[in-house]
Amino acid sequence: MTEYDFDLVVLGAGSGGVRAARIAAGHGAKVAVAEEFRIGGTCVIRGCVPKKLYVMASRFHDDFADAAGFGWTVGETRFDWRTLVSAKEAEITRLSGLYAQNLDKSGVEIIRQRGVVAGPNAVAFADGRRVTTRYILVATGGAPTVHPQIPGIEHAISSNEIFDLAEFPRRLLVIGGGYIGVEFASVFVRLGAQTHLAMRSDLPLRGFDEDLRRLLRDGLVAAGVELHAGALPTRIEKRADCLAVAMDDGKTLEVDAVLVATGRAPLTQGLGLEAAGVALKENGAIVVDAYSRSSVPSIYAVGDVTDRLNLTPVAIREGHAFADTAFGGLDVAVDHALVPTAVFTTPEIGTVGLTEAEAGAQTKRLLVYETSFRPMRATLSKSAEKVFMKILVDGESDRVLGVHILGPEAGEMAQLLAIALRLGARKSDFDQTMALHPSLAEELVTMRTPSRIVER
Ligand code: NDP
Repeated sequence: MTEYDFDLVVLGAGSGGVRAARIAAGHGAKVAVAEEFRIGGTCVIRGCVPKKLYVMASRFHDDFADAAGFGWTVGETRFDWRTLVSAKEAEITRLSGLYAQNLDKSGVEIIRQRGVVAGPNAVAFADGRRVTTRYILVATGGAPTVHPQIPGIEHAISSNEIFDLAEFPRRLLVIGGGYIGVEFASVFVRLGAQTHLAMRSDLPLRGFDEDLRRLLRDGLVAAGVELHAGALPTRIEKRADCLAVAMDDGKTLEVDAVLVATGRAPLTQGLGLEAAGVALKENGAIVVDAYSRSSVPSIYAVGDVTDRLNLTPVAIREGHAFADTAFGGLDVAVDHALVPTAVFTTPEIGTVGLTEAEAGAQTKRLLVYETSFRPMRATLSKSAEKVFMKILVDGESDRVLGVHILGPEAGEMAQLLAIALRLGARKSDFDQTMALHPSLAEELVTMRTPSRIVER
């Protein structure tokens, strides 16, 4: 018998928290999960899932245009924002319900209110209830940060609000060239919005391979996004019929909505963490070890609140590993190497492993294999679509260090390539693998000659 009310109280029913709660309960632990918003967290409610649905909606724009080359006559097309919003809402309500049901089935108590840490082994809830627990898992995720702090910024919205705007923004300014900025710019320009993208750098997606960054910029511009590279707003003024945004390059943009996508920060404020002795980083992230344990031995944290690799599957894996270690008698630390990632712009990006700059710094002799080609579909559609692929190979060991793809299904390819790279694939393994024809991915096993060799 435990001396505590619970073995585990999880704060936050998002991807990481829900997985940890279910697995812990499966190991026989008495578990509660506290959630003040909707069950499912950012990914399900206002992140990856609705985003991908909106990306799918946006790509019909290209499909309609491409169809003529294949003999189809497409009549007048019209996009209805409210239909998409309500269909999305139905789907995420279904998913959120499934998450709650699964927690229920696992025997996890769902406490639908905010919980805060009230000591190393205590949690207090908004209604005054207080429970004791052997372990606390903080899985509260992150929230959008709003930059730059300029007059009128209160008129801007974040990714939390954009999915459910009452009216479709016919003119949209996106601030920030990270994942969220480029994905929404790519979606809204295809849904028919006049779309501006303002970012302080020349290229989007800092940290990604330079060639992908350049090609994505070109792809966004080709789709009609008006790029304001190196320019940021200085003031937003609400007028009767628009938001007038003064830019630091002297231009004024008149738009219906301003989306701020300048990063996210860990949600740790007001959670009682400092008082309990939990060490935080400067940006508020909880400091954890390889087992997701904080500086207080009974308090753990997983997912975006730890600011390691802020991706849903990573949070899920961290939550699972924590539960297996704390309650399953296993010893599981999460390996954060070779995590594949996709950016669901059109063109899409899929990537795994080192960028060319990183690989170049780590190897004596780097072989860079590249190819760029028109996908078969473009031959009949006559679209300007291009695919780009880059394989980075250590010239000494022949090991594949990174693969970077821009084009259709790049994300799907990156997922499978991650398996090969984790197995330690060499370029010779790629070469010996039979091509699957006709496919885009076959180009990955048919690149014979390096485009360049970088020696150090
Ligand atoms: P990112 O960190 O990806 O990008 C932030 C952007 O905002 C960058 O372009 C950055 O510019 C810019 N920026 C930061 N601070 C300022 C400032 N003070 N003034 C002007 N510009 C600024 O954040 P996002 O909000 O796009 O996404 C948050 C996280 O969500 C991502 O990091 C990712 O982990 C996750 N995510 C993942 C997705 C996926 O896997 N497909 C999709 C969406 C989100 P600069 O580059 O110059 O620093």
